[in-house]
Amino acid sequence: MTRCYIGLGSNQADPQAQVNAACVALARIPLTRVVACSSLYRSRPMGPQDQPAYINAAVALHTDLNAEQLLDSLQQIEQQQGRVRKAERWGPRTLDLDILLFGEEQISTARLQVPHYHMHARAFVLYPLAELQPELQMPDGTPLQQLLNDCPRGDLETLPVFIQQLDAQTGLTPNG
Ligand code: ATP
Ligand code: CA
Ligand code: CA
Ligand code: CA
Repeated sequence: MTRCYIGLGSNQADPQAQVNAACVALARIPLTRVVACSSLYRSRPMGPQDQPAYINAAVALHTDLNAEQLLDSLQQIEQQQGRVRKAERWGPRTLDLDILLFGEEQISTARLQVPHYHMHARAFVLYPLAELQPELQMPDGTPLQQLLNDCPRGDLETLPVFIQQLDAQTGLTPNG
């Protein structure tokens, strides 16, 4: 069993609903359990500015899949929620699911880089993650708190809502 952390993002087709639906879909991945969900966060887009604001969140999973199998499942969920891959980097999307951390593993393959290569510089990743596990350390020993100190919140807003639907569909309470 591996504890891993997933970063969720959406800025199209009702982003809050996309993130909620994604969380339910994550709970349905075989050999995998959702163990905690962050609040929802809102921030201006990274990269091209002519697109709607993003809703982001982080989810902690326990899984018996390996990282590649988990990525397969995440990409399947992105497809099911209407993700269309375009040439433009960081363009608008209905759903983005990134593996932030996979246990203590450090992975560098053609398909997968873990820890996520740019998480240290992204407030919309670090702050939701800290909500789930403030004492978290990177596989190289760097405390998450140190990354937070070096990454100002900027325009990142915490919304007064948690991921919905968990009670009914997974038996989880928000953040629990
Ligand atoms: P960024 O990676 O900068 O956040 P993005 O999420 O928009 O940008 P995508 O188009 O969603 O990028 O993904 C491109 C590829 O990144 C995927 O096909 C996947 O193989 C690869 N990838 C590498 N590392 C990871 C990871 N940790 N989690 C998810 N995908 C990853
Ligand atoms: Ca499951
Ligand atoms: Ca991403
Ligand atoms: Ca991605």
